[in-house]
Amino acid sequence: MEKLIGQTRLVLTQGDITQADTEAIVNAANSRLAGGGGVDGAIHRAGGPEIMAECRKIGSCPTGEAVITTAGRLKAKKVIHTVGPIYRGRPEDPRLLANAYGNSLDLAAQYGLSTVAFPSLSTGAYGYPLDMAAKVALEAVKRGIEKNSGKFEEVRFVLFGQEAFDAYAQALSKL
Ligand code: ADP
Repeated sequence: MEKLIGQTRLVLTQGDITQADTEAIVNAANSRLAGGGGVDGAIHRAGGPEIMAECRKIGSCPTGEAVITTAGRLKAKKVIHTVGPIYRGRPEDPRLLANAYGNSLDLAAQYGLSTVAFPSLSTGAYGYPLDMAAKVALEAVKRGIEKNSGKFEEVRFVLFGQEAFDAYAQALSKL
């Protein structure tokens, strides 16, 4: 499923983000960049120890912000590590989640990375309800594409499983 935002394709796919052939892939990191389970564990396993070595040098990343490292053995050139909020139903949760997407896209644009793949940030261990997260994610990505006009060929969501894909497809149809 896809939609054109200016010249940029916004694409929804289902699969494993470690296999994505985009120039950048985004990781759902924690603020200590310490490694974890979920998509973070998969990216470090597939990409090898070089990624964690750079994370250690960077040290940490506040919620809503993003940092960039090598992609090690992955097909991508760079991994952008961003930190979504732990969902608590607070009014700032959607803003922090939107910031994580927006700051990741700004960083990709700064590095001249024109194809970017995102997982569904915050919707695993961090507990953000999928349908709410999908709406925030797609609105934030649309704004990020418009802000960095002409910089992106494709922004892709690689969704893990049918339930996540369906939630994003529903949100995209309303965007
Ligand atoms: P968070 O801590 O931000 O919630 P998680 O990694 O626990 O991060 O989950 C974020 C999303 O990533 C979840 O929807 C989960 O199903 C998904 N996910 C897990 N592994 C992969 C993978 N290899 N590729 C893409 N998405 C993945």
